Amino acid sequence: MSDTPIPAAIDETPEKRDFIRQIVRDDLSSGKHHAVKTRFPPEPNGYLHIGHAKSICLNFGIAGEFGGVCNLRFDDTNPAKEDPEYVAAIQDDVRWLGFEWHSLRHASDYFEVYYLAAEKLIRDGKAFVCDLSAEQVREYRGTLTEPGRNSPYRDRSVEENLDLFRRMRAGEFPDGARTLRAKIDMASGNINLRDPALYRIKHVEHQNTGNAWPIYPMYDFAHALGDAVEGITHSLCTLEFEDHRPLYDWCVDNVDLTGHAELLQPVLEKGLPREAAKPRQIEFSRLNINFTVMSKRKLMALVNDGLVDGWDDPRMPTLQGLRRRGYTPSAMRLFVDRVGISKQNSQIDFSVLEGALREDLDSAAPRRMAVVEPLKLVLSNLPEGHEETLTFSNHPKDETFGKRDIPFSRELWIEREDFEEVPPKGFKRLIPGGEVRLRGAGIVRCDEVIKNDAGQIIELRGWLDPESRPGMAGAERKIKGTIHWVSAQHAVPAEIRLYDRLFTVADPDDESEGKSYRDYLNPESRKTVQGYVEPAAAIAAPEQSFQFERTGYFVADRRDHQGDRPVFNRSVTLRDTWAAKG
Ligand code: ATP
Ligand code: MG
Repeated sequence: MSDTPIPAAIDETPEKRDFIRQIVRDDLSSGKHHAVKTRFPPEPNGYLHIGHAKSICLNFGIAGEFGGVCNLRFDDTNPAKEDPEYVAAIQDDVRWLGFEWHSLRHASDYFEVYYLAAEKLIRDGKAFVCDLSAEQVREYRGTLTEPGRNSPYRDRSVEENLDLFRRMRAGEFPDGARTLRAKIDMASGNINLRDPALYRIKHVEHQNTGNAWPIYPMYDFAHALGDAVEGITHSLCTLEFEDHRPLYDWCVDNVDLTGHAELLQPVLEKGLPREAAKPRQIEFSRLNINFTVMSKRKLMALVNDGLVDGWDDPRMPTLQGLRRRGYTPSAMRLFVDRVGISKQNSQIDFSVLEGALREDLDSAAPRRMAVVEPLKLVLSNLPEGHEETLTFSNHPKDETFGKRDIPFSRELWIEREDFEEVPPKGFKRLIPGGEVRLRGAGIVRCDEVIKNDAGQIIELRGWLDPESRPGMAGAERKIKGTIHWVSAQHAVPAEIRLYDRLFTVADPDDESEGKSYRDYLNPESRKTVQGYVEPAAAIAAPEQSFQFERTGYFVADRRDHQGDRPVFNRSVTLRDTWAAKG
């Protein structure tokens, strides 16, 4: 269901007290910062997934809660894997979650700044051009227990380094022939500080800068300086970057953009404002969810190998997939809030995600009636052609949803599983000779079971107790079960897609015993059936969510749903059906 963006500032949820917000609070009250500025920095090499939602809600959420701003920055320093299709989808996803960025940036906006910064490091004797091959660099790097060795090119003169680096930029050398490396410490206990590469040669066209650059900055250098250029105060990232923080700080401190305004000249020439800060990197734990894979590489393989129907397949953990499945922005934000922010790595149970959606839709989704697996029930004591209109509330707990008309007639569709010829113990629905309440319409008794030659039940005949009709004296007569129905003559045939979890095991990333996530795909994760929906469901706009009474929460498919050809996706069942399976 569509949702209008709500700024986090007027969010009515209680104040959040995680350790990052505490740091921000302290920095504001101590006067270290007067305003907070954050950024969400996706690499446009795939679609965003639910893990990214955690980072988005954190970065944009903090900016909103503390009166600051958040930039959306495409970290496009790796041109080979990036694509404008992803750039567009990512913007769509951030807005869908209910957030608006202060400024849309690309790391490539700063390529000229990075270049000037690299020349400055060279002039300061803090970077050098190295001719070692990738393989040699690995040999020289050492291991966790042994120090590395200095590159034989480490002591080149500033002049030689400047000349070589300029020629790298001019495109004189082939890919991989040279790198620019920071001169830090080959004996450092932190391998990231052993003269890490700052630039590599790559003759690859870039989605934003075309063929202007044959060299591209490395992630750590570009990311730290990108944050500094934008005046980011708190640079929030996931725990795997903890070991990179010393390098992040090294880049920020040694380039020192706040003290060297001349390095920002290219930014001003692009018409961007002059802002620079010394950002602080803070790490938090990634979101992991069981029954799911979250690596972009695996998600990409699922799509490319046709194991799912694209990035927005409703079984995918991508934001586009979840959206198509019927997840709402408010359910996503609720989920992220529940998970919280910490430094503890953990795996969140899939049911927490489903629970957030149920909770959101329980209050937000109007009710409708739909029959997923139909069985005909003829009320033989009503005259042929009998038709009437009943009025139903759209929501049992919220009158503001209003009411709607539902047609009722002599022939109904009921759910096949609501009838049992030989009922198991405790069965409370329709049985031969038994009675059940037809939701909002009266009490029916089953008089006859009609079968085809193969012995399959094809129709039921029943008697509708006239005294039990709405408004009659017997309307409140106690009866064990209530079932839903749609009028056969008025109902609209609908394609109903019953989705379930994509994987059958809690940890599809488990590669023991030579298995891979592909071995754990759930063959039952999508079942398409032809059902019937009441007219008021058929006319729904795409992306409208409903609770189909007694059946689950469903959404009109964003791509395929049409009023005369309704298509509904099951977003989540009414209850957790996996808990019992253990
Ligand atoms: P890859 O490394 O495969 O490209 P990535 O998931 O790191 O993928 P990015 O585009 O670099 O993708 O991520 C953008 C931001 O989202 C980063 O700040 C990253 O830390 C954060 N992020 C990514 N995955 C998660 C996750 N599972 N939980 C929380 N934050 C995440
Ligand atoms: Mg990444």
